[in-house]
Amino acid sequence: MATLSLKDIRKSFAGIEVIHGVDLSVKDGELVVFVGPSGCGKSTLLRLIAGLDRPTSGTIELDGRDVTGVNAADRGLAMVFQSYALYPHMTVRQNLSFGLENTRMPKAEIARRVDEAGRMLEIGELMNRRPTQLSGGQRQRVAIGRAIVREPSAFLLDEPLSNLDAELRVTMRAELAQLHERLATTMIYVTHDQVEAMTLADRIVVLRGGRIEQVDTPLGLYNQPANLFVAGFIGAPN
Ligand code: ADP
Ligand code: MG
Repeated sequence: MATLSLKDIRKSFAGIEVIHGVDLSVKDGELVVFVGPSGCGKSTLLRLIAGLDRPTSGTIELDGRDVTGVNAADRGLAMVFQSYALYPHMTVRQNLSFGLENTRMPKAEIARRVDEAGRMLEIGELMNRRPTQLSGGQRQRVAIGRAIVREPSAFLLDEPLSNLDAELRVTMRAELAQLHERLATTMIYVTHDQVEAMTLADRIVVLRGGRIEQVDTPLGLYNQPANLFVAGFIGAPN
C-alpha cells in the first residue's frame, strides 16, 4: 500500500526539458492511468517514480517520505514493462523466483510467494515450462507474476499489454482490473490507448508535451474535458 506525491517534477535530457513541472497525488490503493500520445513523457515520468532515473528538480514522496534520492531497489515498487524479457533459459518457476533469490528471503517463503502468484495468475500448471513454450498472454502473466512475488507497495506498469493482439488485450485488461481489486495495491498504469484508460482507471492523468492537461475520473473527463485536446483524445475512437 502506498500514497505517492509528485511535486513540481522536471526532467531534462542533455539540457532539453521534456517534463515541465508535474504535480500529482495518488491515493493508497488507487489505480491511476497515465494516458497521452507517443512522446508526451509517460515512460519518463514512470521511470522517475520507479527511481530508475532522477528528476532534474522537484520531489517525489512515497507514504509521505521524500524518496527523490532513493535507489529503485529501496523504494519497494515493482515495474512491469512492455517488452517483458523473460529469461529464455529458465523455467517459469525460475523466472518468478529469480528476483527474490539474491535477497535473504528463506527458500520456503520464496516458494510460497511463487506458488501464490502462480495460482492468482493461473499459470500454476506452467511452472516447469520455458518462455518459448508459452503463448503471449501466458508470458505477460509471468512478467506480472515477477512483480507480484516482490509484494511491492505499488505496481508501475508501462504499456504492459501493447505487444498482445487486440482480443487478448481485452482479456488481460479485465484480469488486471481483477488483480487490482484483489491486491488492493496502488497501481500506476501507462498506456496510449484511451479505451484501456477509460475502462481501467480510478483516475486518468492526461499528458501532452510533458505537462498534465487534466486529471479526473473517466466519467469526469468524458463529461467535462478541460479543453479540445482532452476531448479529442478521450473521445477519439480506438
Ligand atoms: P512516452 O512514453 O509518452 O511515449 P517518453 O517518456 O518515452 O514518452 O519520452 C518523452 C520525451 O523525452 C520524448 O521527447 C523523448 O524523446 C524524450 N526522452 C525520453 N528518454 C530520453 C533519453 N534517455 N534521452 C533523451 N531523450 C529522452
Ligand atoms: Mg513510453
